[in-house]
Amino acid sequence: MVPTGPVPEGLPDLRTMTLADAEAFAVAQGWQRFRGEQVWRWVHDKGARNFEEMTNLSQSTRDEFAAKATIGCLTVAEVQTSKDGTRKIRMTTRDGASIESVLIPMGEHVTQCISSQVGCAVDCQFCATAKMGLKRNLDAGEIVDQVYLGKRILAEAEPAARISNIVYMGMGEPLHNYDNLITSLKILTNDKGAKLAHRRITVSTSGLVPKLAKLGAETEVRPNLAVSLNAPNDAVRDMIMPINRKWNIGKLLAALKAYPLEQRRRITFEYVLLAGVNDSLADAAQLAKLLRGFKCKVNLIPYNPHPEAEYARPSAAQIDAFQNECKRLGMSTYLRIPKGDDIDAACGQLANRSNGSPVVPLRIRKGPPPPPPVE
Ligand code: SAH
Ligand code: SF4
Repeated sequence: MVPTGPVPEGLPDLRTMTLADAEAFAVAQGWQRFRGEQVWRWVHDKGARNFEEMTNLSQSTRDEFAAKATIGCLTVAEVQTSKDGTRKIRMTTRDGASIESVLIPMGEHVTQCISSQVGCAVDCQFCATAKMGLKRNLDAGEIVDQVYLGKRILAEAEPAARISNIVYMGMGEPLHNYDNLITSLKILTNDKGAKLAHRRITVSTSGLVPKLAKLGAETEVRPNLAVSLNAPNDAVRDMIMPINRKWNIGKLLAALKAYPLEQRRRITFEYVLLAGVNDSLADAAQLAKLLRGFKCKVNLIPYNPHPEAEYARPSAAQIDAFQNECKRLGMSTYLRIPKGDDIDAACGQLANRSNGSPVVPLRIRKGPPPPPPVE
């Protein structure tokens, strides 16, 4: 079992702190700076979930910390395992919200997909998370704790397996929770903590243009970037991703052209294949034209069905034909085979259904489109 401790409320949370924050916190308490690093490493490297686990600290030091700080913990509510080995972990926050993370076996390694928000405000028409609306942002501690719990669960289930990659592709729009995203990246990549390489982390976004510029200017964190394009033109993207009415494809691609890419990196464009909406060979040709000259690859994601949307997955033959056309036109194109769809863990299916959350009926839009979402 994964232990979680009851945590007193209202105190600074070590799980949300970068190493520098923890050191500054220790100094502000009148303690030596190295004490800050010591407890930080217990939390973020060794995975301690309470001060009692910090066995090389004297009882009085542990008590002093426990009086001045907490360690925020998620609780594991449920782990479901798919027949393809994918594991969906449902976790509960201290205020009772439910979030989901997915462990996806990829050959010898495991990729973990993590959530950045409870729900999402972006309202993409094909996405189950969208139908929840946005409940709240996750704090940085709640983001990184998904990784620490994922590690523990994997270690118990498959001791030989390792989480090698992290993708911010679970519930939520990471760039709508910008500060906590950046803090979580600083924590996960710190070589005194979880030690994840920047190039092993991917942040996926629906394309919040001003935040892309901000992310590109960050110096301490350099994740890979995935962009949910999902359409070959504004007419289709306006329809399936209302955010396109605020930042259309032209603005999005201009922001991506200006995005600083490290050597040997490229932007990933995600493209959900929706039957009869964006899956024709003409769509593939338009997509190729759009992305000409970009250092990028295209991930095709066949639509994963769920009760809240009325779309359909294209036939295997159509998916094949679309991919072949993309390749023929010179795009480096990969097909994302749906994983974990039998437990609603595949892309776009995360909606806390097993939690008994009400399933919101599909809103079929008639008349003029709604105003663009507020950034
Ligand atoms: N909010 C971020 C990250 C989470 S969504 C983003 O949109 O990029 C992760 C990916 O799942 C996105 O590329 C999205 O387009 C895709 N997706 C959403 N709903 C889907 C569905 N029903 N079937 C397949 N992919 C879906
Ligand atoms: Fe939010 Fe991403 Fe779903 Fe769009 S696809 S609603 S941005 S989680």
